[in-house]
This record gives sequence, C-alpha cells and structure tokens, in this order.
Amino acid sequence: MSQINEQIVLDTLKGVVDPNRGKSIVDLGMVTGVVIKDGNVGFAIEVEAARGAEMEPLRKEAEAIVHRLDGVVSVTAVLTAERPQSAGAPSAGAPSPGASSPGASSPSAPASGRPAQQQGGAGQQAMVPGVRTIIAIASGKGGVGKSTTAVNLSLALSRLDLQVGLLDADIYGPSQPRMMGISGRPNSPDGKTLTPMENYGIKCMSMGFLVAEDTPMIWRGPMVQSALQQMLRDVAWGELDVLVVDMPPGTGDAQLTMAQQVPLSGAVIVSTPQDIALLDARKGLNMFRKVDVPVLGIIENMSVFVCPSCGHESHIFSHGGAKREADKLGMEFLGEIPLHMEIRETSDSGQPVVVSRPDSPHAGVYVAIAERIKQKLFAASSDSPRRAPSIVMQ
Ligand code: ADP
Repeated sequence: MSQINEQIVLDTLKGVVDPNRGKSIVDLGMVTGVVIKDGNVGFAIEVEAARGAEMEPLRKEAEAIVHRLDGVVSVTAVLTAERPQSAGAPSAGAPSPGASSPGASSPSAPASGRPAQQQGGAGQQAMVPGVRTIIAIASGKGGVGKSTTAVNLSLALSRLDLQVGLLDADIYGPSQPRMMGISGRPNSPDGKTLTPMENYGIKCMSMGFLVAEDTPMIWRGPMVQSALQQMLRDVAWGELDVLVVDMPPGTGDAQLTMAQQVPLSGAVIVSTPQDIALLDARKGLNMFRKVDVPVLGIIENMSVFVCPSCGHESHIFSHGGAKREADKLGMEFLGEIPLHMEIRETSDSGQPVVVSRPDSPHAGVYVAIAERIKQKLFAASSDSPRRAPSIVMQ
C-alpha cells in the first residue's frame, strides 16, 4: 500500500476544477492546511463567503477524489471563507458553510452565507448574534481541571439568573458531553443552524456531539479554526448573557489563534498549585495580553485536599502560591477550589456538584467565583444584564 503524503493529495486535488473560474482548486491556491495522520486526511478549501453554499458540491467532490486514493482511511474537507479586511484575523475567519466532520455518523453541518457582524471593540472579531459576552476558560496544560471548572462555573453563573451557554472548544479531548450528562446529536431543523444540546438550563455545543469518540482528531491550523467558527456562528445560541468557552489546554499557536478569533470579553485561567510554580499561568496571561483580551482572574484548582472521611485539610501542593503569583502579575485571584472526590465523581458522572449538591461548600466556592465574574463582566452596565439586540438570522 502506498504511503499517502501531502504532494499526492495536492496532485489529486488538481483534478477538482472550480466551475466558475475554469481552473483547479490547487492552481487557484484554494487548498490549504493539508494534514495527514494515519491515513486520515484533512484540508481546507478557501472560498469567497458569498459563494459558500454553491461550493458544497465541490467540497464533496474533493473529499471523494482523495478518498479513492490508496492508503486513505478518511477525508475531511472544510470550506473556509476569508473575512472581510476589517475583520482583524488574517485567515479562515467566517463560518465555513457545509463543512463536514470525519465519521460517517456526523450530521451534515449547517450551511450559511450570512455576513459576519462586526464588533466595535479591540479585536474586531465578528460578534455572535444574541450573545452578550463570551469568556474563555483556559489553562497552561491539560488535566488541571479546566473543563470541570468550566462546567461548574457555567452552572453557577446560571444560578445567578444569567442565560448561559457552554462551548466546548477543547476539540482535542471534548469532555463536556460527559460532564454535562448529554448524549445524542444536535439537530438542524432548517439545515443551516444547529440547535444546541441542553441540560440543567445550559445550552451546550461540543465537537464531542458531532464526532464519534474513536474518530481521530486530525484538525489542526485552519481546520481547528473553522470548526470553532462553526460552533460559534452556525449554532442557534439564542439570547445569552454569557457564553463560556472551554478552550483547548495550552498556550500554543492554536490556542492563540482561537483567542484571537473569538470575540472574548475576558478570560479565566485555571491552574493547579504546581503549574503556578511552573509559571504556566504566566504563559496564559501573556497569551491573552497579546490578543488584547482582559484576564478576569486566576482560579487555583485542586488547591487543598479535603479528606472525604474526616474532612481534614491537607495542602499537598503547598498553599497560597496562586494568590501570590496572581498579585505579582497584577491578575485578580478569583478563588481556590479544593481537590475533592465529590467534585471528581459528580462531574465525571454528568451531575456536576453545583447542580447535584447545590448546598455543598464546593458549590458555594463556584458560585462565589461566578458572582465575581458576573460583577466584572457587567460592571459597566446595570446590575441586571440587558440583552443584546437580537439579530435575525437569515
Ligand atoms: P482539563 O479540562 O484541565 O483537562 P478536567 O476538568 O477534565 O481537566 O479534569 C481532569 C480530572 O480531574 C477529571 O477526572 C476531573 O473530574 C478531576 N478534577 C478536576 N477538578 C477537580 C477537583 N477540584 N477535585 C477533584 N477532582 C477534580
């Protein structure tokens, strides 16, 4: 069996001709971001936003022709649209109509050719209609409890009478479906927008809903971006006060690009006491500074170990480091969440502690942090958040 490589893919794609321009999509420079992993091939086809819907057959043709190659297991081609010049990010910005996900069981993703709304603020990213604020929950590395924190904070914000959505952008290891106790797939009644899944009063969207668990995660670069763009803009979020985005762990290029492409009102950094010592939190702060996103503060997770039988508190990883580091960096210290079996068991079984044990001290910690976040997000407006004017989607 021949070894598939980028050149073979590109040579093959020369057989796909853009009917309007009479040349191959390769010669027209429309193919970008070819990735190949274990026979799984992915690439993006850049199109003009206005031509999105009409390019769907071409996308399908490109997938089919590559799929016929020896050694190819799966093919994912996504359409990405260049943003208008004023939109800030240099590439692959607008929603990608008709992009598909690997895995035969994936629903066809929505198509849309609507123009991006522009936000007046710093990043000039396209706004998400009806969504008042978007916050990122980020971490310097995986396994620090970022997703657990994102879920419980979302639920805590919802307890504060806010309309909350949760977007699982951790496309490398989506865990929100499990933590939110949601299974199944989102519908697309109009064939354009996906209806988000919902539980505990929170609207959720995750790559985990669209992609079978055993599907290799081969998105990188532009493909990651377009998947995120779709989950932001081609989902009927409705009216939200806060959309919480669970970012992929780390502070590399992919995360930076995401931070740049999402119109974030602020970011929260989750860290364990060890990471704080290793300066991971500082990297997170620097990443958001680069893209002019205000860091709302830092949360120390797995801060103190509380013995489930006797309630004794042990500071396994030392204590107080996060607060000191936050002070040093001029970041607010939002609070500390203990390392406790109940937090792990409840989130891993789809019944996060904030809803399953609403009166527990753990739930209290999340709610107190959520109160502070709410205050910081809406301080400039009134106490009860006003809704953004709704924009009718075509
Ligand atoms: P990340 O999103 O940073 O990769 P997760 O939120 O998936 O991390 O958490 C990793 C594991 O740690 C999960 O099993 C989760 O239930 C557990 N966990 C997270 N925070 C806590 C905590 N405060 N106490 C106990 N277990 C926790």
